[in-house]
Amino acid sequence: MNGPVRDQVRLTEIFLSLQGESTSVGLPTVFVRLTGCPLRCRYCDTAYAFHGGTVTAVSEVLSTVSDFSVTHVTVTGGEPLAQPGVMPLLTQLCDAGFAVSLETSGALDVAAVDPRVRKIVDIKTPGSGEVARNLWSNFEHLNAQDEIKFVICDRQDYDWARLKCDELNLWSRGREILFSPSAGELDPATLAHWMLEDRVPARLQLQLHKILWGDEPGR
Ligand code: SF4
Repeated sequence: MNGPVRDQVRLTEIFLSLQGESTSVGLPTVFVRLTGCPLRCRYCDTAYAFHGGTVTAVSEVLSTVSDFSVTHVTVTGGEPLAQPGVMPLLTQLCDAGFAVSLETSGALDVAAVDPRVRKIVDIKTPGSGEVARNLWSNFEHLNAQDEIKFVICDRQDYDWARLKCDELNLWSRGREILFSPSAGELDPATLAHWMLEDRVPARLQLQLHKILWGDEPGR
């Protein structure tokens, strides 16, 4: 295909599902999964998106998304911000009237993301194996609708996450903070118990799509 690199993305898949995470959980959502990620989180469940994919025009992605006739679109990965074409993709999805969210590792700069996009930004914990990749300056570029997600692997991660929220003053900024137990590693009920015991003002996030469909790709 022709055209500048910013008008195209390397794409793993586009599919319709229910949003499994964030405050939009349960809503019918089209997922645009871009290929590639510079991180290697120990618990990653989308390693199939690290390689391969198909170079696809942004206009073609928009057309495919439109065919599903739903309002909500999530651009995810891999790490979508690793591709320059993600910025025009996000903007054109917003221009087309979709409610757009972006799932990102928190390791790449979010400053240039269209402000209409709701960013779901991870903070990588020690248990992820990628804690050194957190780009702390990203917190200067979050808007009121953006959400912050911790995947918690164990008690050490839980204590670390609470400390980080204190240090970064995240509780008082009025944003949604999501604590998600690492699937197969931390019992959700155990995490719920800790959060209640400590009166943590975060939201316990279970991955609805995994409850419904397990690890099936494209769900
Ligand atoms: S940032 Fe996401 S896609 Fe990349 S390795 Fe970590 S969990 Fe997997």
